[in-house]
Amino acid sequence: MNIDEAKSLTRDEFHRYAAALRPETRMLIDGELVAARSGEWFETINPANGEVIATVPLGDADEVDRAVAAARRTFKSGIWSRREPRARMEVLYRLAALINEHALDFALLDSLDVGKPVIDVVTGDVPAAALSFQYFAETIDKAEGAVTTTASDAFHYILRQPLGVVACITPWNYPLLMSAWKVAPALAVGNSVVLKPAQQSPLSATLLARLFLDAGGPAGVFNVVHGTGGTVGKALALHMDVDKLSFTGSTEIGKLMMVYAGQSNLKRVTVETGGKSPQIITAKVPDLDRAVQYAITGIYANKGEMCSAGSRLLVHSSIHDEFVERFRQKVATTFHPGDPLDPATTLGPLVSRTQQQRVLSYIEAGKSEGAVLALGGGTPAGFENGAYVEPTLFTRVTPAMTIAREEIFGPVAAVLPFHTIDEAVEIANDSIFGLAAGIWTTDLATAHKMARDIDAGVIWINCYDHGDMTQPWGGFKQSGTGRDKCLETLLTVTQTKSVWVHLGD
Ligand code: NAP
Repeated sequence: MNIDEAKSLTRDEFHRYAAALRPETRMLIDGELVAARSGEWFETINPANGEVIATVPLGDADEVDRAVAAARRTFKSGIWSRREPRARMEVLYRLAALINEHALDFALLDSLDVGKPVIDVVTGDVPAAALSFQYFAETIDKAEGAVTTTASDAFHYILRQPLGVVACITPWNYPLLMSAWKVAPALAVGNSVVLKPAQQSPLSATLLARLFLDAGGPAGVFNVVHGTGGTVGKALALHMDVDKLSFTGSTEIGKLMMVYAGQSNLKRVTVETGGKSPQIITAKVPDLDRAVQYAITGIYANKGEMCSAGSRLLVHSSIHDEFVERFRQKVATTFHPGDPLDPATTLGPLVSRTQQQRVLSYIEAGKSEGAVLALGGGTPAGFENGAYVEPTLFTRVTPAMTIAREEIFGPVAAVLPFHTIDEAVEIANDSIFGLAAGIWTTDLATAHKMARDIDAGVIWINCYDHGDMTQPWGGFKQSGTGRDKCLETLLTVTQTKSVWVHLGD
């Protein structure tokens, strides 16, 4: 069922389709759907009610070896890497179309797996994932090499070539979309891929790889291995025949990727990691209600499980009390917990009980360190069967507090007052992270100066979380080392080759 049809389903209809869903959970290696040779399986759990959705093969280093071997063989054969650019484009365009046509399947898989409101997947993740394949397909015959200016007895040109085998390791917060961001550019330029999705959200990866085959992609070019990060992820990251690690996840594991690359074959590494992004609401905010609305969606959308979550709200002292009051009122009418399969739901459960406990422990830290709990702070009544946490707001937060420093990855915002623009910039930059920042002001010069001075990969002025495929996505500092989405991403999955031709003496 496509996006338009899925958009108009009711709660009962989503439930009916979910009850009939029999997800294919096997791994896709060399074009074959396979279970783990060990015979082991793991359960994937619906965080809304604790029920088992499906069992998934628990892959290990054996499956990683087989998937990498298939990827290497297909890469060397040229079946994809040297296929006519237009023919590769057509496959990826068809894949984009198939993603849209399977909107309901993807929406159910990701919603059941991680508790995302189903309608958010239908209207957000699915079209964005399709667009990712479409965008990178469009680049295939636009990426050019170069001829340099050299001595008259030489002809020198620079080829841009795919790397070979790219391992994509993805997180659970946007399962389909993060896979698309990683896999699309790698495939577009002709690499073969092994995708390892997070163990909490394995279901949509197998479907994505199967649709690549349906779109006309060759077997063995796009492989999926399920299992734990500590086994499958580590085996991929240490593998001597993987040329590139394209990772999205926590800063802690992102650092390990670099260690593994150094311990193995110096494979290239791109990591997109965590954040603690500020939204700065100055005294010259153009429209306080609009800023409040963006502050709310910036932290509570996707249950706060967003790398770009605007979790630090830096508010000018002159408008602080008014901002907090309007924020509290607005939350009551916008973000309330509900059944993720109900299209009216705006706040689903966190991905797991473990994540729920982690977020609740940060809330305890906020209280014990002296922040004032202005909203939420617990688990919502009536939702005890799920991993829910209420939209939570702390005021009187200081930059030294744990809730102002660490990535909580849940629906918890901290308000930090400031008095001058310089102080706001200083607080914004007082973080190990530098993924994104929002600035609210009518003063053009202030906006541009702050955009220049804030250490973040993405700056939004008078908006938040707006974007497009053309926008480089990635962070400064410990938020990562690369960029997703944009044209620049192509450089990270290719390498240059310098060819020098001697023309004669
Ligand atoms: P995570 O724990 O770092 O896991 C990310 C991936 O790495 C998962 O597939 C995980 O597998 C795997 N992994 C874990 N340990 C590994 C190891 N030793 N070797 C190799 N792979 C390993 O992150 P997460 O909890 O899934 O995701 C949340 C994080 O992602 C947050 O910090 C968020 O900010 C970040 N994120 C960043 C962006 C961005 O664009 N910057 C976008 C989305 C999310 P298992 O799950 O199977 O352990």
